[in-house]
Amino acid sequence: MRIWAVANQKGGVGKTTTVVTLGGLLAESGKRVLVVDLDPHGSLTSWFGHDPDRLAHSAFDLFQHNGKVPEGLPAQLLLETSCPGLSLIPASSALATLERKMVGVEGMGLIVSRALAQLWDDFDYVLLDNTPSLGVLMVNALAASQRLLVPVQTEFLAMKGLERMINTLRMIIRSRNTPLPYTIIPTLFDRRTQASVHSLNALRKAYPEDLWRFAIPVDTKFRDASEAGQVPSAYSGDTHGVRAYRRLLEDLVEQGRGQE
Ligand code: ADP
Ligand code: MG
Repeated sequence: MRIWAVANQKGGVGKTTTVVTLGGLLAESGKRVLVVDLDPHGSLTSWFGHDPDRLAHSAFDLFQHNGKVPEGLPAQLLLETSCPGLSLIPASSALATLERKMVGVEGMGLIVSRALAQLWDDFDYVLLDNTPSLGVLMVNALAASQRLLVPVQTEFLAMKGLERMINTLRMIIRSRNTPLPYTIIPTLFDRRTQASVHSLNALRKAYPEDLWRFAIPVDTKFRDASEAGQVPSAYSGDTHGVRAYRRLLEDLVEQGRGQE
């Protein structure tokens, strides 16, 4: 099982879109894929037609047992999606209350990791969608994953937020026993705008090692897909946005063979 977290402390950079699209492409290629919504806003959950304000069970349930994960609980939380081969553990708005409740609970940072350990034989890939704030949920995601994907919107202020994220990340990586390779993914790239072109160049200069070699372009199909609750690749296999994600996936799978 390969576990990738998609995180950035900034909202609106394409995290959820990256989870849905990579998840969909992996599922289409025959992999068994799980996407987990660890964002109390629940955009990933809404994408697949569930209302995070009304769900009786969600990832929140995992955190209700004093740092332990009861046998069988993760499997009970799985929801099927419109995309064959792609399952979802949804978020509910209750997740927003966790920060307060989890302080001082033993093992609180390892709950997602323990939950996924129970699903080890059931999935080939797990993608964890994250909230923009660094708290117990993101700590859980980073502890559980083998690679971190950091989507960064190609705009003038992109670098500022990214530096913060990378610093936080280095801090967390130091506290792990194993390395956590990361890939920075330029998103919402529009080569007709100066802002996009400049910020992509600046990113290349600042992060020559960790930056993905291409960028995800602006593609209105993604917005339409999220409104329709469809996995982009499933209905429009070949827009330029989906093609870019497909290339990203190939690179990630290739890297994973070497590093993770
Ligand atoms: P995050 O999860 O980081 O908050 P989202 O994936 O929800 O970001 O994306 C924010 C908004 O931008 C959504 O409306 C989404 O449909 C849109 N979006 C994301 N990626 C693209 C893209 N490559 N082209 C066009 N719109 C995009
Ligand atoms: Mg999101």
